[in-house]
Amino acid sequence: MMKRFDGRDWNEIRKMEAKIGISENCEGSAYFRFGNTIAYAFVYGPKQLKILDNVEEGVLRVRYSMLPFSTPERKKSPVSRREVELSTIIKRVIKNVLVLKEIPGTVTDIDIKIISADAGTRTAAINAAILALADAGIPMKDLAVAVAVGKVGQRIVIDLNKMEEDYNSEKLVGTEYEKYIEYYGQGTATDIPVAILPSEKKIIMLQLDGSITEEELKRALDLAMEKSFEIKEVFRKAILEKYPEDKKL
Ligand code: ADP
Repeated sequence: MMKRFDGRDWNEIRKMEAKIGISENCEGSAYFRFGNTIAYAFVYGPKQLKILDNVEEGVLRVRYSMLPFSTPERKKSPVSRREVELSTIIKRVIKNVLVLKEIPGTVTDIDIKIISADAGTRTAAINAAILALADAGIPMKDLAVAVAVGKVGQRIVIDLNKMEEDYNSEKLVGTEYEKYIEYYGQGTATDIPVAILPSEKKIIMLQLDGSITEEELKRALDLAMEKSFEIKEVFRKAILEKYPEDKKL
């Protein structure tokens, strides 16, 4: 039976890998991978700052960046608009799960580095950041997980890779990939990165690039919700590997 470009089923996430505590030089660190998309996150803080003494909520700073060698074509600009925008989006997600009131007068910096990019970097970045925060022991309401779902041609799939994100059936005609049109169908791709709180079955981030019907969107989000537990399980294992005593998980 025909499958996706990389041999996956429609509801199959790329190979996931997670590890926490990868650096001794910061309070929390983690690595998260969806196939060829790899993110590292480092948490510095919370640092108590005198000038923030009377500030009730902790301050959060997030920086997402792609390393120059993370893509086949070397990326040039030092900080792109895309990176600035993604940093803001990721920060919004993280603010949703942190209890910043419990760390007043502090600053926490999260530095996220994409060392290899094959689409889905923002979702891998969020996952790495959440794990690094868990490593730093910063109070969180719940472990949020992120993954992209979407529509490639006419097919609903999870965790799109770059070839799927760039899908355009017309452009495949006459190429070695023409046979995949039979699997995906006609059209282009719609990418929908989401972040979820699995235990509350709540979506805390949803972005949509492309077009999709209401019914298809519902199917895609149901898929993300269902698979969010699989991602959370990868988190749980990574946390237990470093903190075997953490029974709460
Ligand atoms: P995401 O990585 O979250 O899917 P985008 O949709 O913006 O975010 O990017 C999709 C993919 O396009 C990235 O994962 C990466 O593979 C590629 N890409 C993005 N920006 C660049 C860039 N400046 N140079 C080369 N490839 C890039």
